[in-house]
Amino acid sequence: AQKRFAGLVGLPATTQCGRRIALHMNAGLMADLPSLATSGAEGVGLFRTELQFLIRNKVPRRGELASLYARVMDAARGKRVVFRTLDIGSDKVLPYMKPQDEPNPAMGWRAIRVGLDKRGVMRMQLQALIRAAAGRPLTVMFPFVAQFDEFREAREMIEDVMESERKLGHVVPSKLEVGAMLETPSLAFAPDLFFEQTDFISIGGNDLKQFFFAADRENERVRRRYDTLNYSFLSFIRQIVTRCDQFDTPVSFCGEDAGRPLEAVALAAMGVRTLSMRPASIGPVKALLRRLNLDEVAKVIDSAANDGAQSVRGELSTYLASQGY
Ligand code: PEP
Ligand code: MG
Repeated sequence: AQKRFAGLVGLPATTQCGRRIALHMNAGLMADLPSLATSGAEGVGLFRTELQFLIRNKVPRRGELASLYARVMDAARGKRVVFRTLDIGSDKVLPYMKPQDEPNPAMGWRAIRVGLDKRGVMRMQLQALIRAAAGRPLTVMFPFVAQFDEFREAREMIEDVMESERKLGHVVPSKLEVGAMLETPSLAFAPDLFFEQTDFISIGGNDLKQFFFAADRENERVRRRYDTLNYSFLSFIRQIVTRCDQFDTPVSFCGEDAGRPLEAVALAAMGVRTLSMRPASIGPVKALLRRLNLDEVAKVIDSAANDGAQSVRGELSTYLASQGY
């Protein structure tokens, strides 16, 4: 199947209406990096760092992490890699962490909440990232930011670590970009200053969807009940993009839905200009985007909703079929 899209590798995902959609890949292991060249991804839009913590039986050392992150940056050959700090808790449980026995782990002590409460591990990871960059640009994003204060504290922490690394004589990154994952509806309604102070936002659609619909992403019974092409969800995405555009805050979408052709098209029609997905999805998504006019797609979606559709999947499929898809 990959062969079918091989001819598109060097081509941009430019739509018929002239919009350029940036396609990035998600990764979590060194072994994922060769796909950067073969898939034609513009960069790594999400590097999930927790895998390195999950496959060991004790906390990895700073030196080990720094050399792994450096190898990831080397393999990316100057393409941007967005390193997401540790996202543990919820569905990702470390074998060496005391089980928390929480009634609702997805809404519990996880991700940045752990990082801000147990600062040692997050500081160690930030040091490893800064040392790995060694004078190159560095992009870091914090998972599961639910309110501005959490982002502010995390950003202060990274700036503080930068300063102490500088004092220790380490070469600090030439440029530092710090972003937040928008995975809870609350962050979409943060004060304006949040949008001004974050360098970018990445919508974690897997979590955002579970909290938007109050439907556990791990629970088969309810997971499929709410479609990503549900008009309520798409409208919310459109509102987030509008808010980001107001402040020129770059916004991307990195949940699994970005790699599903219909979902990717709908997200692009809602204004999302950067999608990050599994490398194998880049070809099919690009092929489809290149033949479509997003203004028309947006009209199809809005008129389906005006006619009372809750999920616009049927109407969108019919439209895509009329375009030869
Ligand atoms: C998400 O929630 O969409 C996301 C990208 O993060 P994860 O799937 O690792 O929770
Ligand atoms: Mg998530």
